[in-house]
Formats: sequence, C-alpha cells, structure tokens
Amino acid sequence: MRMAVLAIDIGGTKLAAGIVDSEGRMLARGEVPTRATEGLEPVLARIVTLGRSLLSRPEAADAHVRRIGVGCAGPVDLAAGLVFKPPNLPGWTRVPLTERLQQALGLPTILENDANAAALGEFRYGAGRGAQSIVYMTVSTGIGGGIILDGKVWHGLKDAAGEVGHMTVSPDGPVCGCGNRGCLEAMASGPSIARRARDLMTAGRTSRLSEVTKLTSADVARLAKDGDPVASEVWGEAVGYLGIGVAAVITILAPERVVIGGGVTNAGDFLFEPLRQEVWRRLKLVPAESVPILPAALGPDVGILGAAAVALDA
Ligand SMILES: [Zn+2]
Repeated sequence: MRMAVLAIDIGGTKLAAGIVDSEGRMLARGEVPTRATEGLEPVLARIVTLGRSLLSRPEAADAHVRRIGVGCAGPVDLAAGLVFKPPNLPGWTRVPLTERLQQALGLPTILENDANAAALGEFRYGAGRGAQSIVYMTVSTGIGGGIILDGKVWHGLKDAAGEVGHMTVSPDGPVCGCGNRGCLEAMASGPSIARRARDLMTAGRTSRLSEVTKLTSADVARLAKDGDPVASEVWGEAVGYLGIGVAAVITILAPERVVIGGGVTNAGDFLFEPLRQEVWRRLKLVPAESVPILPAALGPDVGILGAAAVALDA
C-alpha cells in the first residue's frame, strides 16, 4: 500500500517541509523564513501553518500521509521528543517538539537531530544509496555529522554520537563554539577558514583577499585556485585538518563510504581531490582508496528528504 510522510526541516534561516512518499519522491514542497529571533512560539506557529498547508494539498490527500518526521538542530532527547537550546533557535529551551506537533497536526511525529537526518537522507536516497554503512559530514557554518551503521543511525549515549566537528585536530588551536580548543569545526568550517585568512593579513601578509569586503571561505577557495599565496596556504591547511578528521573517522568505523556536503564543498574537486590525497596518505590500516569520499548528492533538500527517511523508517 502506498504511504507518505510529512517531512519538516527546522533550520535557523528557513523552515522547509515536504510530502514525501515511500520511494523518496517529493510530492509537494514548501518553505518559509524561520525568523528565529522572534522566539519559540511564533516559529512553532509557522511550522504548524506550513505543515497544515502541505497536508491540505491534493497531493497529500492521495498519498496517505501517516507520520511526521522532523529534523532539528540538537541537543535533542529523541525518546522524549525534546529539543534543548539549539544555537540557531534562540528561546528554545527544553521544547517538547514532537508532542506540540503531534497535537497541532494530528499525526505521530518522530524527531531526529538534523545532521543525523541528513545522514539518513543521503544514505537512503543520495550518495550513500546501496551501502550498509556511511559517515556523513556537513562542512558549512559549522561541521556536523551522522553515522549510519548497518542501515541505522548510530545515536550513542545521550543521542550524542556523530559530532565529527568537535573532535580535536589541533591541540592548541582556536577555541571552538563548544568551548574546546582546536576542534575540526574551529579549523575547517567556512567561518574558521575566513577567520584564518583575516588573521594572516592582520599579521602583515599581503593577499588579494584584502580586496574582498565580506570575506568567506568561497573567496578563499576562489583565490587559492588563482594561486594567491595566502589563500592557498589557508585552503591547504583547512583541507589538511579535514583530512585528519576524515581519516580518523574511517580508521575507527571503516564505513563503506564517506559523504560530505555543506557550503564549503561547493568548491568541488578543488576540495575533494586534495582531501582524498590527504586521507589516503593517513590511512594505514583500512586499505587506502577502498573507502570512497563522495560529495553529497541531495543538495538543499537533504534536510526534508532526511526527515522523511526518519519517519519512513520508524
Ligand atoms: Zn567544538
């Protein structure tokens, strides 16, 4: 029998949702700005309105929508359906999200941490399709991740597994948003790459990056490609740290694939080729080159498709 789910991706910038069938086809889609600074209740109201509007679409009526899957930034308590203080959602403190959505929308609701949901989405419908185990990483404003082992999200104690961005890769590195020093996120996220470039210029290095007004990691990648020495150095360092992180993850888990998405991966082969070299150079026990390191395949809808996979698997 056909079945579909309402999938909701709660982000700090936008709320996106879709009606997705059991084959992973998006039958209907909608999104609205989060306006996170307005706080909990207005954002929850927008989520409910978005959900209702999708459930009332004719595509939903024909598709037998049975459940709701929700991806939201952590920390979360998945069994209790609670969201604790996500950094991108001010005013959300111990929110009983599944209960609220279940009451408002009238369907059983399953919550997942957004990075885990994205990992499951890529595993089911994207670059991880056909594998049994993958590690997914997203490298953008932060660095997040999710681990799929034998077809299931590995949640770990307190649902805290998969935080690949917060492994230490540089013991004396800059302080990370989590409070630790030298986390992968503090060395190789988009803002960290831009900050490192600014630091080198403040220290007196000259670079064409100084002509850029709002410097981002995309500018660093672009000028590194052009041969700018500071940009090349910063890009090379970031790729090196990512390589340390990815090699560590492969050494511990030996997944069949590593899938990497997020804004920094828009650099394409300029990221992936040196990254693979760096990882392979560091892999000694898992056969080098036996674990493909692939760009994510689902693009901006990974959050919706991931939340759908969570609900369809439940
Ligand atoms: Zn950290």
